[in-house]
Amino acid sequence: MVSKMSLAEKINITTGTGWQMGPCVGNTGSADSVGFPGLCLQDGPLGVRFADSVTVFPAGITVASTWDRDLMFKRGQALGAEMRGKGVNVMLGPAMMGNRMPAGGRNWEGFGADPVLSGVAVGETVKGIQGEGVIACAKHYIGNEQEIFRQAVEARGQNWAVDEAISANIGGRALREIYAWPFMDAVESGVGSVMCSYNQINNSYACQNSYLLNGLLKDEMNFQGFVVSDWIAQRSGVASALAGLDMTMPGDGRVFADGGSYWGSELTTAVLNSSVPLSRVDDMALRIVAAWYSMGQDSSSYPRPNFSSWFRLPQGPQYFGSDDIGKKAGITINNYTNVKSNHSSLARQIAAESIVLLKNTNNTLPFGSGSNARRSLMVLGEGAMGNKNGVNSCIDRGCNDGTLGQGWGSGSVEYSSFYSPLEAIQEKAREDGTLVSYVTSEADHNRIYATVASYPNSTCIVFASADSGEGYLAAEGHHGDRNDLKLWHNGDRLIQGVASMCKDTVVVIHAVGPVDMESFIEHPNVTAVVLANLPGQEAGSSLTDVLWGGVNPSGRLPYTIGRRLADYGPGGQVMYTPNHPIPQQDFDEGLYIDYRHFDKFNIIPRFDFGFGMSYTTFEFSDINIEVVKTPTEFLPTRNGTVQPPKINSTIPDAKEMLFPADITQIHKYVYPYLSSSSGITRDNTPQPSASTRSLVDTDKLFTSLLKVRAKVKNNGAVAGKAVAQLYMSYPNSTGVDFPVQVLRGFVKVQVEVNQTVDVSFDLMWRDLGYYDEEKGAWRLPVEGGKWGGYKFMVKSSSRGDGVEKD
Ligand code: BGC
Ligand code: BGC
Repeated sequence: MVSKMSLAEKINITTGTGWQMGPCVGNTGSADSVGFPGLCLQDGPLGVRFADSVTVFPAGITVASTWDRDLMFKRGQALGAEMRGKGVNVMLGPAMMGNRMPAGGRNWEGFGADPVLSGVAVGETVKGIQGEGVIACAKHYIGNEQEIFRQAVEARGQNWAVDEAISANIGGRALREIYAWPFMDAVESGVGSVMCSYNQINNSYACQNSYLLNGLLKDEMNFQGFVVSDWIAQRSGVASALAGLDMTMPGDGRVFADGGSYWGSELTTAVLNSSVPLSRVDDMALRIVAAWYSMGQDSSSYPRPNFSSWFRLPQGPQYFGSDDIGKKAGITINNYTNVKSNHSSLARQIAAESIVLLKNTNNTLPFGSGSNARRSLMVLGEGAMGNKNGVNSCIDRGCNDGTLGQGWGSGSVEYSSFYSPLEAIQEKAREDGTLVSYVTSEADHNRIYATVASYPNSTCIVFASADSGEGYLAAEGHHGDRNDLKLWHNGDRLIQGVASMCKDTVVVIHAVGPVDMESFIEHPNVTAVVLANLPGQEAGSSLTDVLWGGVNPSGRLPYTIGRRLADYGPGGQVMYTPNHPIPQQDFDEGLYIDYRHFDKFNIIPRFDFGFGMSYTTFEFSDINIEVVKTPTEFLPTRNGTVQPPKINSTIPDAKEMLFPADITQIHKYVYPYLSSSSGITRDNTPQPSASTRSLVDTDKLFTSLLKVRAKVKNNGAVAGKAVAQLYMSYPNSTGVDFPVQVLRGFVKVQVEVNQTVDVSFDLMWRDLGYYDEEKGAWRLPVEGGKWGGYKFMVKSSSRGDGVEKD
């Protein structure tokens, strides 16, 4: 197909048509002569953005809290089905933010602070999405850990004297063992596309960093799909092409919606004047077409986009972003295709199984029913009810009013339906004739206290939250990243005030990440604390499932909850003020983020990574280790070279690239054509052919070497799901610096009362190895010429009870 494309067509599919110049947040041109359609790229990680009749799934951080591979897969699958139903070709997710900084604005879109947890979630999500025929997009590659200064344009808009985007300065080992790790899982799962990020890495922009794109991603990880820029993250035409960028989005270059581009006609010129080899453009097109074929999108049954991101009426403009009124004539753009299917029950299950029970004094939870039912429930705080101005009233959910179901930014979705905690609580209470009183206005704490005083011996359910989001929007003074880990709206004061009067205070927290709970966590009247993450549309039902015990809580923390922000160390702090006109963010802590940092410096967290209570108790036993395969070498070798497929193509004459006479130009639409061919001269030195790639043996990194087995028993009175977490300590006399322990696997299992269930974990070369910067390879640590000396621990959390074996 690529051999048959004209140069204009190849460039057309590499370049977005311009901001809002098509139905989706990103739209490529087409290659009509060979039947390749323009592609629709749409956010985002938790549902179809800017669309009607879709499901708002629980966020990434929420599904990560389930520690359940199957739910991660099913969520991906349901997302894929909804995307496909709307005619989306590329879903812009999953996202993976390393959670280096607990206050990082977009952490909630990703899967927590640990690369193994995140990697599994990414792999399952990609398989789920792509199984439905939708191309997944692993983002953002790489080091985009904070929002502030992610883009120079945005930073200047906030009056910072910043010349260039922030540079995340990351060493080779942390780069691979932490930040690139989940991208390896994405590639291993066959991800079709990867999005390069806004920021610089080691002072070179992500979308023109040859070491990261050509090197780490395409050679080391053997990624065969295409790299798409984040929206206006491309900072150069020729350099980005040579560095390995394959598609630019939204097509506009310097700023949104100006109609100019670094590619489009500029890429045409660059090919014609020999700045970019034609073989590179062939390779871009090949990678895009390959991903499309690979998902089966060449099938005639694959839907075309049937919605508009920009316009809600049935008829509307095809090119909304054009200021050329004549081009805004109405066509049918919204079919209101309902793609929700029965996904609300999956959304509810994920949200319920994500809930982390942090405190439960004297088994205050679950609430009884019938004769054991609570007499009176007080529901307090605006988090109990959806936004009173309407659940979609803030653009891209850029406010924190009412139940916090999602964070804000491009990763948010319009609710087609929303089930609030108050509604669900009232429904449960009705079954038992329980009195429910509520105050959902937070502004006036006194009214809340008066209500509590009016009915002594009630159970008080207090809602509190902490929000964050993407850097182009700010809410209550938080520019994407959170300013601290405090609850918003004086949540601490509200909880303390209620607890001072109410002996049975149950705290429900909706949050994007860890929050500081020090002011109330030990209060004797705070009998239970429930972390309900970001539940999405099924906020109410998922919560009552756990409060009334229909679901035994099985969520576990995907991050550490520290006693204070400073406890996360220097690497855990967002840079709020620039330290240089090109902000320099040194990842000096290397591997020591989150629990690795707490462990290394012996800092006691409030709740350790992996922690979460249940209504029953589990006991781990009988750990054993089986060597599946003994490695005979300790450094993986390069796996020879591959020659890319030969594309038959020649550079056309510049005149052939002029605007065809039959095209009516639409203002701001990005075209591959030239308005004039004058002044373009070709360099006569021979054109390089597509470069031969020297591949690292990635198969070896994913070969199982060990198997660890253990047993888990339910010692309590009710059935429940246990999460067996496998941690590993590296051999300690190799002279290499290793964290105290690292998560290497997890299994969630249902265990009936008195039942014992077997769990097992596969450990691969990558799990057992480390990245040796000197050798430039993942190697196995060798002690005295011998391989071994690891310690394995199967536990309830990183600092919890369990069993271990050397
Ligand atoms: C040419 C420029 C052109 C650019 C396109 C360069 O090699 O000299 O005229 O705008 O390529 O990226
Ligand atoms: C975000 C991406 C998103 C893109 C398209 C960017 O601002 O960083 O995550 O996919 O916009 O909406």
